[in-house]
Amino acid sequence: MESTSYRTHGCGQLRPEHIGAEVRIVGWVRRVRDLGRFVFVDVRDRSGILQLVALEGTPMYQVLRELGREWVIQASGVVRRRESPNPDLPTGEVEVEVKHIEILNRSQVPPFLIEDETDGQEELRLRYRYLDLRRPIQQRRLELRAEVIRVCREYLRSRGFLEVETPMLIRSTPEGARDFLVPSRLKPGTFYALPQSPQLLKQLLMVAGYDRYFQVARCFRDEDYRGDRQAEFTQLDCEMSFVTQEDVLSVFEGLVKEVFRTIKGIELEDFPRLTYAEAMQRYGSDKPDLRYSLSWEEVTQWAQKQGVPFWQGRRTFWLWVPQVKASRKQQDKWQALAKENGAETVAFIQQEKGQRSSSLAKYLSLDSIEMPGDGLGIWVTTEKLAALGAVRQAVIQDLALPPEKPWAMAWIVEFPLFEEGEDGRLSAAHHPFVHPHPADVERIETDPLTVRALAYDLVINGNEIMSGSIRCHTPELQMRIFRALGLSEEEARQKFGFLLEALSYGAPPHGGCAFGIDRWVMLLAGARSLREVIAFPKTASGSDLMLGAPAPIDPEQYAELLRWLSPKST
Ligand code: ASP
Repeated sequence: MESTSYRTHGCGQLRPEHIGAEVRIVGWVRRVRDLGRFVFVDVRDRSGILQLVALEGTPMYQVLRELGREWVIQASGVVRRRESPNPDLPTGEVEVEVKHIEILNRSQVPPFLIEDETDGQEELRLRYRYLDLRRPIQQRRLELRAEVIRVCREYLRSRGFLEVETPMLIRSTPEGARDFLVPSRLKPGTFYALPQSPQLLKQLLMVAGYDRYFQVARCFRDEDYRGDRQAEFTQLDCEMSFVTQEDVLSVFEGLVKEVFRTIKGIELEDFPRLTYAEAMQRYGSDKPDLRYSLSWEEVTQWAQKQGVPFWQGRRTFWLWVPQVKASRKQQDKWQALAKENGAETVAFIQQEKGQRSSSLAKYLSLDSIEMPGDGLGIWVTTEKLAALGAVRQAVIQDLALPPEKPWAMAWIVEFPLFEEGEDGRLSAAHHPFVHPHPADVERIETDPLTVRALAYDLVINGNEIMSGSIRCHTPELQMRIFRALGLSEEEARQKFGFLLEALSYGAPPHGGCAFGIDRWVMLLAGARSLREVIAFPKTASGSDLMLGAPAPIDPEQYAELLRWLSPKST
């Protein structure tokens, strides 16, 4: 029986086994090539690209010649073998000799090439995002994203996790950023906050006995746009009851391995673990890129015995970079960078063809320095270990060092619970609900900055991909943390009364984590920006160039809004 549907096949599905078949396809005209005796049209849908052909003298010849780029067509015809196959296309051995064309819609000439390699600048592409997303490379990225989420869902569901949605209009959940606020019309002068994460709600689900929860959750943080961030982003948010840190790490290490296995066909080895203190000491970063083995070594004791005046009384670190030579300009740049990051002094020693040179030659006997061969050695004196991380990263980048492996994962554990602001006030290093390390609990009041947390991050190739913790589950412990953060009993009750109350009704021990889906997919896709793996992203300054958001509102809406903002006016 004649099918009446738009198509019998996707463009990308036709293969030599279809030769001789009558098919009907739909898609967008990618290009028209008029070779005189033949006219060829490439047509594309999400499944791929297909060549249509009409011979001079046939009724379809003229029709095909007149098609425009990005017109939407339906074509019926017979599959035949191509005279000159195209090995780059999965459909490259066949073409469809067209018997009938239906023009379903015409298109304006698109403002940029709808190809993987496009001539469109990013701004223009974001303005016409629906055309940008029509590019096959973009379609592959969103498919990859969907696949990552599918694998995560299946993994978690098969391990007893329940998917629960939590609301968008809530009260502030502090994750260290500014809240997006929504004024309430029904209760003027009051506001909802959009969730910075579902943190408190998932903890309340644990109190409610749900045990294992997950959600693909949208989160909102009204931050200044530094680097590659999105104000609105997606987390795979998870929480479990009756678990230790070990349990959480093992479930989620399994999840990451499963994603790499299914999506990339890669069997990952067990992830190494570093404490925060080790990571800072060796790499100067709590998210070190471990594709490179370069690491800092503290040489303070040795340095004190040398005659270098500006090393006296300072912590000194040494980095050995084998088989490289750095220019004077590069050394100056790294020196400036180290100082910007709080380092005091920076010095270099270069060995080339066995010959050593260093600005420290007048203080040190260069021959006594241990250098296993040609290469560059760097000494930095600093109290601020982040300076070491900045230099390491810049050395890797500026010397274009090749990664030693394609993927390097690491768990970073034992983060500090608190950090001290410029004003000397304590804040939560992660968020205020993190459980302190049991061995350090007694120092919460007396020596808070030395208290470690039962908190962990997963780092992939130098990117923090997931972070989480075991939580405080008794109201007493939670209150001690609030107090240490400078909240009075009354302030704590006012802000987090619902949490303290819930913890007092039999809250189980619990903990969890959240993955940054956008960044993870970006890495898996080999994309350079989060925007490439989000269907409708915002620019660095928070605009949606296609929708024109944010946008002014009507004067009436504005007047109304002002009434909602203030309780007195009603
Ligand atoms: N809510 C935390 C975050 O967004 C993750 C967690 O602790 O589960 O970073």
